Amino acid sequence: MPDRYYLWTVGCQMNKADSEKLAAGFDRIGMTATDRPERADIVVINTCSVRQHAEDRAYSKLGRVKDLKKERPGLKVAVMGCMVGLKTDDLEKRFPFVDVFARPQQFDGIMQLVEGPTEDLGGEFWPSTYAIPEGPAAYVPVVHGCNKFCTYCIVPYRRGREKSRQLDEIVREVAYLALHGVREVTLLGQTVEAYGHDLADQPDLGDLMRALSEIERLKRIRFLTSYPKDMTHRILEAVAQLPKVMESFSLPVQAGSDTILESMRRGYTKSEYLDKIAEVRDLMPHAGITTDIIVGYPGETDAQFEETCALLEDLRFDKVHVAAYSPRPGTIAFRKMEDDIPAAVKAARLQRVEVVEASISLAINETYVGSTQEILVEGVRGEQPFGRTRTGKLVHLDAPARVGSLIDVRIDHAGPFSLRGAAVDSLALA
Ligand code: SF4
Repeated sequence: MPDRYYLWTVGCQMNKADSEKLAAGFDRIGMTATDRPERADIVVINTCSVRQHAEDRAYSKLGRVKDLKKERPGLKVAVMGCMVGLKTDDLEKRFPFVDVFARPQQFDGIMQLVEGPTEDLGGEFWPSTYAIPEGPAAYVPVVHGCNKFCTYCIVPYRRGREKSRQLDEIVREVAYLALHGVREVTLLGQTVEAYGHDLADQPDLGDLMRALSEIERLKRIRFLTSYPKDMTHRILEAVAQLPKVMESFSLPVQAGSDTILESMRRGYTKSEYLDKIAEVRDLMPHAGITTDIIVGYPGETDAQFEETCALLEDLRFDKVHVAAYSPRPGTIAFRKMEDDIPAAVKAARLQRVEVVEASISLAINETYVGSTQEILVEGVRGEQPFGRTRTGKLVHLDAPARVGSLIDVRIDHAGPFSLRGAAVDSLALA
């Protein structure tokens, strides 16, 4: 059986969680991780297809692995994640040195490659194999896949339809994580409020949050990514009422024009999205809300782009993740729409959103200066500890603090991307 594994991951939190799960499986059968592919017996590349740039990074990594395999033909190579669709003929032709192509969460082929057991890892989501927590904050996937089929998105084709994990299984995993030092979990789903729709007794995300709140050692619960149509009032009330659930939302709007939203098949109008934000802010006036925007979607006119900018000015998000449209083979947009917005126009629109967003983020962050915020110290970068407020703001601390502690911090400086401050209670200091 191979001894050492090298695992490389690109992409979203769900991909990172998948890699942690696979690593837990490797560890469970006695393998050890290495950060040097040259020293590994198996190299696993966990890929992302959401943007061309992410695919390019995986291709470049695979180029280096190909050379390693030439030097050491016994090296095992696996490619997993969103680049792997139902059919792998093209990938097999392009990368003949790869031993296994595995779709997201389909770990069995990889385990066979390392001669490890597949059956006793617990089936599709390996419920009895838990990732070993690396710090006080952990990601926990709760619903896999997506049923929405937005025209530009490859996820439903690669991750399949929405499939929720059993509630008691998630509670067991989070209790295990809490016992091993985790203080905050982020519940993950492509559309996280879809949680439970497919389960027999149809619990919703609020029910899951209530059950997790009972775990004493767990202090904080986050969740992402939200989808406006799935975000019910009942779920929002749970977020507002449960003290351990953070009032922090990642709620992609993607565009401010109804024509573009309809063309994207997002399933809501601008006014429905505005109503959803109003509902959130009505229940939680200080909630942190971030969003995603795509600029340069096929056919997007200057006027339609201006509608997006106006929406951003109107709603004043804490942060905007903006990307230029990139056609993904296999999606509806790729098949049916011309990628007709010139690269220069996309770049200019992207930059414009970044400028609008930076000034709004800075203005919002400045309102934190002088306030005291509870943060969970998640780690240390360089010499500086960092953590996040309940609303999701990144805070750098001016003095040492114990990783994993929940401390009150007085904010004394704000920038567009983060805050800085000092712990109020010196007893929390390490
Ligand atoms: S909601 Fe749309 S953008 Fe999000 S994962 Fe599903 S198909 Fe992709």
